[in-house]
Amino acid sequence: MKSGSKDVVHAVIFDFDNTLVNTQKVITDAYNQIFEDMSKRHGISKKILSSEIEKIETKMVRNVDKTKENYDRGSWFEMLSKNLNMGLSKKQINKYRDKFYSYMLENVEFSEHTESILADIKASGKKVALLTEKDDAIEGFKQHRVEKLSFSRHFDLIVIAGDTIPERKISPIAFSKTVKMLNVSPKNVLMVGDRLDIDVEHGKEVGMRTVLFKSYASSGTGLYKPDYIVSDLREILSIIK
Ligand SMILES: [Mg+2]
Repeated sequence: MKSGSKDVVHAVIFDFDNTLVNTQKVITDAYNQIFEDMSKRHGISKKILSSEIEKIETKMVRNVDKTKENYDRGSWFEMLSKNLNMGLSKKQINKYRDKFYSYMLENVEFSEHTESILADIKASGKKVALLTEKDDAIEGFKQHRVEKLSFSRHFDLIVIAGDTIPERKISPIAFSKTVKMLNVSPKNVLMVGDRLDIDVEHGKEVGMRTVLFKSYASSGTGLYKPDYIVSDLREILSIIK
């Protein structure tokens, strides 16, 4: 992994969802609980509910125009009710929405090594930052999700795109602003994330070296190849040596 011709790493920027935490797993588990309840009350199988929410997800966040992404599960459950003729009231929809977000807050999955990885990067004299997207559905939700995790104390900088800065992660400006705030040159920064179209593409566009983390979610497609592909975040420690 180590290459003598590469620039020295002075800072590492991490993505949050599906990189530092296994968001995909928690979302699937939250749906399972909610669909169990919906299935009992409305007589629609969990399989049909799961396949319908997948279609809604494709429509809402896998569209070509990323500026129109909408992650609010309130509106997703409203669509689910409409598409499957469930006739859920606004109150029931809100109940499921609240259940979804409290499940996400209470159930976080991450590697037992995360804390020591971040501490080791810091101990080697490098800066550690987080660049994550705002969670639109609830004001301040992302900050809450991040700060309740003990490993977040290692970050020199936390940027919540959409809150800390106006730009979202669909814009490379969110990445260049984060690098600027760290007061380092992009060529000395390693960007670690799970999405080829966002973390790797924009990381490369602003001149960083990039690491694709491939363990929790599908990485999609992007314009650039990552400099490294890892399936365990501990591999970062040998990259930055
Ligand atoms: Mg991510």
